[in-house]
Formats: sequence, structure tokens, C-alpha cells
Amino acid sequence: MDKPADGLTTNLAKAERYLARFRGSVVPHVIAGAHTTGSGETFDNLLPVDNSHLCRVAAGTADDIDRAARAAQAAFAAWRRVPGDIRQDILHAIADRIESRAEEIALVESMDTGQPIRYMAKAAIRGAENFRFYGDRAPSARDGLSLPSDAHMNYTTREPIGPVGVITPWNTPFMLSTWKIAPALAAGCTVVHKPAEWSPLSAVLLTEIMHEVLTEAGLPPGVVNLVHGIGETAGRALTEHPLIKAIGFVGDSATGRHIMRQGAETLKRVHFELGGKNPVVVFDDADLDRALDATVFMIYSLNGERCTSSSRCLVQRSIHDAFAARLAERVQKIVVGHPLDPRTEVGPLIHPRHVDKVLSFPDSARAEGATVACGGGRPEGLGGNFVQPTLYTGAAQTMRIAREEIFGPVLTVLPFDDEADALRLANDVDYGLTAYIWTRNVGRAHHFAQSLDAGMIWVNSENVRHLPTPFGGMKASGIGRDGGDYSFDFYMETKNICVALDTHKIPRMGV
Ligand code: NAD
Repeated sequence: MDKPADGLTTNLAKAERYLARFRGSVVPHVIAGAHTTGSGETFDNLLPVDNSHLCRVAAGTADDIDRAARAAQAAFAAWRRVPGDIRQDILHAIADRIESRAEEIALVESMDTGQPIRYMAKAAIRGAENFRFYGDRAPSARDGLSLPSDAHMNYTTREPIGPVGVITPWNTPFMLSTWKIAPALAAGCTVVHKPAEWSPLSAVLLTEIMHEVLTEAGLPPGVVNLVHGIGETAGRALTEHPLIKAIGFVGDSATGRHIMRQGAETLKRVHFELGGKNPVVVFDDADLDRALDATVFMIYSLNGERCTSSSRCLVQRSIHDAFAARLAERVQKIVVGHPLDPRTEVGPLIHPRHVDKVLSFPDSARAEGATVACGGGRPEGLGGNFVQPTLYTGAAQTMRIAREEIFGPVLTVLPFDDEADALRLANDVDYGLTAYIWTRNVGRAHHFAQSLDAGMIWVNSENVRHLPTPFGGMKASGIGRDGGDYSFDFYMETKNICVALDTHKIPRMGV
């Protein structure tokens, strides 16, 4: 990606070439390898930078989902029998092709979501890594434990659960889709993917790549299927379909509740990665320079549209005012601009409805007695869905800005007195996804981490992802874990087989 000041011009020209195929068209579903616009119903896809109309997208119906689920079911018989080492090769071939289209994926994703290119430039690389990581685990996915007893040989093995549904959100759609689909394929499952209606385009590229590789390998066309559509229609039908055995879902906690209800009739297995209101806890003995860098990065990168963002900054009272002042100084200097400008740090939010949500908070914050230390409105001279990076200080735990997920470039700062106070504040929210602790006291770091209600905790670090580790949240932040072998537990059934050594006494009746 170009770095100099004229990078925007170059990137815009390249992006236009990649977007040309979508402009003015109707983006179809891909069901059993065939492009189809289904019922003919569509919805509009707008570009966040100026809300201009790019294209229309097929709005999937229950019929489209049914055809996709049947295609996935038909292909399952073949895909589940493909040996692990061949699945490994196929997933690596998908990764190769993702990497060869990295620029296209980055530019399309950036324009479709409003995410700055400086972060999206790596989207394809990270997506490819997910395929390589799970590809390498495909040969051992079915391995279980040997559990011998005195009279029996017990062993466990795993087998793919069947066709699965993957439902993804709009914030970093390419990475999140690969994060779900790669382990499903490695496990031997077939997939129906329903991407978010506000950012449907990178799913088109991913499906195209996967389909090409699977077809060249001689597999039937329904291993991966893509159905676009509105959550309450296409998403709902997917969660209710009897042939779909499990739903891997990333999105809002309220949607997770709907999906659980919708899936009840068919006893759907669900895996939920949901919202967060994650604390970063800064003690007065921390390396404050590093804590400052990480806190700012974790909430203002990716436009703050990030489930693991450090959206609540809890600062020990003795350093609170100085740290809040340093935060404000940084936040004021964050570069807001066109997502394709390499200098841009915060781009436009995804959609006008999301802007309304994010900008509903400043008034309530003031009414509840907090201070809007930076931002709180729209930046001058920029249209589209731009909002100012915002910092709230003087907040209290009872306020909406301290409890609700805002999902924008917005940080709320709260003071705490001591460890007990920090722990109470950190845990006193509905969510429990991530937490960040800044202290040089090793014992405190450990015992504080062990008392936090969060699925993932980083000490003296921003979120640095390591693919073998479990990813997921507690409380309203989710059910289940992704990563490493944890993903296979979700996409596979565990089977125990017990073989007698013909030595034990079998109880006799009717003798
Ligand atoms: P959302 O829940 O509104 O939508 C997510 C997906 O669910 C979309 O594809 C949507 O069409 C679909 N959907 C909506 N209603 C549905 C229904 N009734 N049945 C089936 N599907 C339905 O979420 P969003 O606004 O797209 O994404 C933002 C949310 O995602 C935030 O809360 C964020 O924290 C969360 N998120 C979590 C993680 C994580 O790993 N925990 C990662 C990224 C985003």
C-alpha cells in the first residue's frame, strides 16, 4: 500500500477499479456454486465515506436459505470424507489465493466498511493466516483421547457436526468470516454464510476464492454457500433451518438472544461472540507511557468498532487527572479522514444509523453529569458517517457511557481508589469479553486478572492475538471459545467408543 501523501489518490484509483464490478449491479448469492438473485428483492449498499449508492444486494429469503442449506447438506457427504491432509492442502491453497488478492480485499473492505486502510491492509494476510492455521490442524481434527479402563478400551474421536451456518457482523467482516469458516472447513463441515447487510462485499471475494479452489479440487459445489440478506429474514431462516446443525455467530448480544430463541426448536448448537464494555485498568505503578499508547490504540483504532476495544479506562485516583489530560491531548490529535488515505487513523462509521447511535451519547453524558473532554460531534468539513474521536471524563459507573457498548471511537474515563474499587468497577457491567491491566506489580497482575469477569485478559499489553489461545467472552459477551482446538469442539461431535477386552463379567438375567 502506498505511504506518501498522494497515497489517497493512488488508492482511490485502484479501489475504483476493484469496485467497478459491483457498481450499479445486484450482488447475487452463491448457492451450490451458482450465482442467483433469488426472489429479486434487494437492499442498497452505501459507501460510508459519503453514503453514495454503490450497488444493490440480493435480499435472501427463507427459500434461498433452504436451497443453500440443501446444497451444504448434499456436499457434506463428500467433504467430510476428504482426508485431513487433503483438506490441509485445500485450506493452504485458499490462503495462497487470498494473499494474491490482498490489495483488492484491503481496498474493497476499507471502502465498504469505512475502516482506515492502515488497518485493513493486513486484513487479507490475517484471513490467510486463519486458513493456514486451521489447515495445519485438519489432519488431527478428529483425534481424541485414549481412555483405557480395566476391562475396556475406551477412545474418543471427533466427527464434523454437519452443515453449519456462519453469521457475521459489519465491523471487520473479512477477518471475522475467515475466523469462523476456516475451522469449520478444517473440521469437515460445509457452510452457509450470511454476512452483515451493511458490509457484504468482502464475503463475495472470499466465497469466490474458496469456490475456485474447491472446484479445482473436484469437490461438489455446495461446500461453501453465500446468502446475503437482512438479519431478521435470511439470518433468522438460517438459524431455524433443520439441516443446519450449528450456528457460529458474531454480533450484538441482543441478536444472540434472538438466535438462541430461534434455534430452540431445532436444538441448534450455538457459538456466540458478542458485545463488550471492556475495562483497561491503569494502576499508579504502571509504565504510563506504554499504558497511554495501548489505551488510545485499543479504543480509537478500527474506528472503535471493535468488540475487544478498551472502552472504559479505569485510572487510579492519584494519577487520574494527569493521565486523563494526556489522553485528551492525544485524542485531539487523532487524524480523521478518508479511509483510503494512509495517514487516516479514524475513518467514517459504517452507517448513518450507527452514527445516530454513537451521537446519542454526548447529550445523555452531559445530562448525567459527565464532561465531554474531546469530540462529541461531527468533524467539520467531512460528510458521510464521520464522527469526532470522543473522550468522556468525570464519569460515574451508573452512567450510560460507563455501561453500554457504544461501538465507536469513544472512551469513558473513571477514577478508582484502590484494587477493590477497581475490581468492583471492572466487573460491574453486563459484559465480560476482555480486560487490560497496567501495573508493574506481578502478584497484583495475577490475582487481579484471576478475579476479573472476562474471557481474555492482557497485562501490560494491547490485544495481541495468538491463534492457538481461546478467544471469547463471559456473561453477555458470549458462549464458547474460538481458537486452537476450541473451535473443533464446536464444529465437531465428540464420540466415545468402548470396546471390551472380553474379560469382564456381564450381568445375566432370565437364566
Ligand atoms: P448485529 O447483531 O446487528 O448483526 C450481526 C449479524 O447478525 C448480521 O449479519 C445480521 O444480519 C445478523 N442478524 C441480525 N438479526 C438476526 C436474527 N434475528 N437472526 C439471525 N441473524 C441476525 O451486530 P452488528 O451491529 O453487525 O455488529 C456489531 C456487534 O458485534 C457489536 O456488539 C460487537 O461487539 C459485536 N462483535 C463481537 C465480536 C466478538 O468477537 N465478541 C467481534 C466483532 C463484533
